[in-house]
Amino acid sequence: MELLDGKKIKLEKIQELKKEINNFKRKPGLAVIQVGDDPASNVYVGNKEKTGLELGCNFEHIKFPSDVKEDLILATIDKLNDDMSIDGILVQMPLPDHLNATKIQNRVCHKKDVDGLTDINAGLLMHNKDSLIPCTPNGIIEILKYYDIPISGKNVVIVGRSELVGRPMLSLMLNNNATVTICHSYTSNLKEFTSKADILVVAVGKKHIIDASMVKDGAVVIDVGINREDGKLYGDVDFENVKDKCSYITPVPGGVGQMTVLSLYQNLLKAYKMNNLDI
Ligand code: NAP
Repeated sequence: MELLDGKKIKLEKIQELKKEINNFKRKPGLAVIQVGDDPASNVYVGNKEKTGLELGCNFEHIKFPSDVKEDLILATIDKLNDDMSIDGILVQMPLPDHLNATKIQNRVCHKKDVDGLTDINAGLLMHNKDSLIPCTPNGIIEILKYYDIPISGKNVVIVGRSELVGRPMLSLMLNNNATVTICHSYTSNLKEFTSKADILVVAVGKKHIIDASMVKDGAVVIDVGINREDGKLYGDVDFENVKDKCSYITPVPGGVGQMTVLSLYQNLLKAYKMNNLDI
């Protein structure tokens, strides 16, 4: 078994991005809108800021109290959409229940949608057209390509069908010529599907939902899950149990999560280039 080392890839690619940004006429700008003070969101936004500043980007963090009115968020997005110094806009999820997350997400101009979550970008990806692609699935394709793991013609099984991970992963795998099956909470006999996968991507959010009996010998296993228990992080895959059965596996932490922040800044650079044709 070989470990798919997201940390190593991120370190390498960050240096490449840094060099590229150094040659830009102005610093790319990312605006992150956060609502409330959720501890996990604080950590995620903090990580994004740290990487952004390391890369030499401008990072604008707009934080609203949890009872903020939707209109104020929409007006803020409108302003950022018109701001030429801002190349990317990200709304940190989850949002409190009184806010319409879909409406807010879709207010972001699709050319600044560095999370790739607007309906326009989701549709473009589904149609295999150039778009800003959601960060986590994009990072997974990058891991596979870095390790020269072929996708074309492979039997790919994805567990989870969220807009953030599972669905865009389905499109990306299909666009890379895999044969794809997607499973979810209504799938009966999950094992029947997962055990046939050449590449298994698991994005559920349930600790160790996948054990060795559910994995084919020599499979490539991509664990997206992040589950916190007693201050420790666990994946959706029972790593210790599965690692000797597969050919490659991502660790948690140190795997997919590392690639997500990298993909965000790759998207920011792409948006910068799309919106600044003079560079
Ligand atoms: P989500 O929106 O909650 O979606 C979870 C998916 O899992 C749903 O499609 C659900 O099916 C499916 N599911 C639930 N129970 C299942 C079961 N018993 N069998 C099969 N499928 C089942 O979660 P998400 O946003 O995609 O995130 C998934 C996990 O990845 C979480 O742990 C999250 O923290 C993590 N994550 C990590 C990163 C990273 O950078 N590493 C990024 C994003 C997310 P239904 O649709 O039928 O409900």
